[in-house]
This record gives sequence, structure tokens and C-alpha cells, in this order.
Amino acid sequence: MSYVKDLSDLIEARKGDTLRISDQVWEYAESRFQEFKSSAAEAEYMREMGFKVTMGIGGEETAFVAEYGSGKPVIALLGEYDALSGLSQEADVPEVKPIVPGKDGHGCGHNLLGTASMAAAVALKEYMDEKHLPGTIRFYGCPAEENAGGKAFLVREGCFDDCDIALTWHPGWMNGVTPSGSLANFRVFYTFEGLSSHAAGAPHLGRSALDAVECMDVMVNYMREHMIDDARIHYAIIDAGGTAPNVVQSRAKVLYAIRAPKVTQVKELFERVSNCARGAALGTGTKVEIEQVSAYSDYIACDVVSEQIQKHMEELLPIGYTEEELEYAKKFQNVITDLDRENLKATAKRIGGKDASKLLEQPLWDFMTYSKVGGKGSTDVGDVSWVVPTGQFSAVTWAAGTPGHAWQIVAQGKGPVAHKGTLFAAKVLAASAYDFLTDPELVKKARENWLEILDGETYPGALPPDAKPHIW
Ligand SMILES: [Zn+2]
Repeated sequence: MSYVKDLSDLIEARKGDTLRISDQVWEYAESRFQEFKSSAAEAEYMREMGFKVTMGIGGEETAFVAEYGSGKPVIALLGEYDALSGLSQEADVPEVKPIVPGKDGHGCGHNLLGTASMAAAVALKEYMDEKHLPGTIRFYGCPAEENAGGKAFLVREGCFDDCDIALTWHPGWMNGVTPSGSLANFRVFYTFEGLSSHAAGAPHLGRSALDAVECMDVMVNYMREHMIDDARIHYAIIDAGGTAPNVVQSRAKVLYAIRAPKVTQVKELFERVSNCARGAALGTGTKVEIEQVSAYSDYIACDVVSEQIQKHMEELLPIGYTEEELEYAKKFQNVITDLDRENLKATAKRIGGKDASKLLEQPLWDFMTYSKVGGKGSTDVGDVSWVVPTGQFSAVTWAAGTPGHAWQIVAQGKGPVAHKGTLFAAKVLAASAYDFLTDPELVKKARENWLEILDGETYPGALPPDAKPHIW
């Protein structure tokens, strides 16, 4: 179809800008709500390209929207640019080699994610100018996808209320449309306060907050037997009350992530975990403060949007790799752990069936994966999907088998495979957005399909009303 080619050409023509900004965001590697330079780099570019940019939307300093055009429909392209803590890593090196030990790194490829959506919006804008197309295109710069669910705050503040369709993608090692079913997820801090004392001289005068954390964790670990199989609960003790065993710890803090397929199920588990905390406080003579800082909703895929995405993925695949690129990917596939290799084999079997061994010979899976690509993770795209008919997909940006949230993703994040995958994603996004921008009937069909899937349910928005996006 000619518009797919035209939009692809526009994306290729600006690929220098796109990949430069992607590499820049990789270098900045800023984590949740601290993406000042990353958001500025993308916002500034959008301004230069003729978009109207509004910074700091939804109470988030590092969120922005870049808009072009006017009237209906309003098509939203979602971008992200936050990094992950502690994953600093040199580019292109197939071994653990932090640039600065302990610093942050792009372990989920969000440098690619944001710039592909941005490039798609720019190409569409140029095409709208050329063809005199009506409608509105928006690029949303969305902070803090990791650990804070930044989009849930934007949804709560109504930033997507007038959008008709939302589109996004995620880097990965498979090309496929994302099905419904990411896990809803709450993040909760439990802060215990006790009484300090000399642990040998006057232990009876102390009340240990660390004891309380340990008791709480033990109770939750027993609770696992009595919860639904699909739930996931994990915790990190972020303050153990100090480093001196001879001082009774008067403070301690643990951060919980509570996940399940539906928000209602997470709510129920949250209450039970909180009861473990209250019980632990009672038993240890301490006090507990409970603060929920984020809430991710499960993702609802709109089939009509997914179908358009799938059509364009099929049209634009294969990405096509050179020998050097295949070698580059092989170098990274060779260093995955034995457990990751087992996972790769299992995935190859699930996807390839009898042809699994053929897949395992390919370091880059340059084809469409029809079976489900979703995982047991969570995404705040889920929140958007409850208020706007949404579609998203995964595109190959690193070697098959690369583990998630790992140094290998950071290392491949500026490489040739990541770059090619980013441009491919931009083309799929631009072509899909064009379909909805130019066809009011298709927008209507998507909305009807989405309402049918929701079946009367409405956005479960589970953020406490007083929760604010903040750096913790
Ligand atoms: Zn991610």
C-alpha cells in the first residue's frame, strides 16, 4: 500500500535524528520521574518538528504531550524513556562491564520505545501536511513506566480523556501483537517504627522494627499457599534499620510488589498483605505505616487495533539483517545463562513446534510470532487501555533469548539490531495510526469492539486519591 511505503520513506529520511536521540536517551539513563534530560531531548525535537508541546502534564514534571493538527480523531502514540536502577553497562560488550557501577541503565529498551513512537508521530505529521489530512496526532512522553506506573497518574488526571485510539510497542526478541493479560500490580511501602536500645545491655527496653519486617515477610510467604496461582508477590527490604547488630533497630522498611491478573484480585491480596504487616506490628510492639505508591491495571487489547497492527507487521517483515548483525546477535546469545537458554528452547518449541531446532539456529527471530507474546509482567499501558481503545506490539531489538531487565539489554541498546527494530516499530506505528486517522468507521468499529470486551466494566483506577508521582 502506498501510504505504508510513503510513511516508511519519511521515517527512513529522518532516521539520523531518531537514532541519535535514542542513543542520547540511552546515555542519560534516567530512572523514574528523573527523566529531565531524556524528556527534554524528545520534547525539544518535537517542537522543532512543528508540534505544540506541553510539558509537565498530569502533575508529572517529566511528562509531556506533543500535538499536531486539530479536531477528531485524536490518535495517541505512547512513548517511554525511563531506565532501570543499577544496570549501568557499556554498549556492545558481551560481558558485564558497568560504565559506573551502581548507576542506572536502559535494561528495558525504553530509549528505543520512546523514540520509535516519536518518529512515527513526526512522519505522520509530515504526511498530514503533504496530503492535507485532518485530525490530531499526539505523542505522549510518559515517564516512570518502571516501578511507579507513571501513566496511571496521567490517566487519573484525565490526560487521555479525549483520545480515540492509543498505540504503542515494546522492544523485545519477538515480533508479535501483545495480547490482553499483563498483571495488575500495586507497589506498597511498609514502614515500621520501634524503639532503639542496647541489644545486649537492655534488650527488654527495645522493640525491633526489623523483627517486624521479618515476621511480616514470613507471614506473607506462608500466605502464598493460599492465594491464586497467577498472583505474584515479591519484596525488597530497603531499610534494615542500620548495620549494627548490637543496636535494636528502631526503623525498618520493606517495599512490596503485589500482582495478579485483575485489579480486584490485587486489592484483595493487598488487604491480606497489609494484615500481615499489622499482625507483625502488633506482635513485635511496633507501629506500621502503609503507603501505596503505584497501581498498574491489567492490559486490555482492543482486537480491532491489534488487527491493524498485525497487518502492517506482516507487510513490513522481515526486517532483514546483514551477516555482521547476525554475528553481533550471536555474540550476545552465546552469553545467556543456562536457565535463559532453557527458556529460549521452551519458547522455540512453543512457537516453532517441530521446527524448534531451526529457530534455535537463528540468533534473530525475523518473523511474526502468532502465538501469545505477553508475559507475567505489568505495564502501565494497561491503565491507558481501560480508557482508550489501545493496541501494542513487540518488535525484535535484541538477540533471541536475551533476558528481561538485564545488562545484556543495556549492552545491545545502541547496537545495529536495536536501531533496525526501532525503525521497524516506527513504521508499524505510523501505518496503523494512519488507518485510524483517515477512517472514522474504523475508529467507531474499534470503540464498539473495545466496549464489548470491557463488557460493562469501567477503569478500576486503584491509585489512592492522595498518591502523588514522586521520586522514592
Ligand atoms: Zn519496559
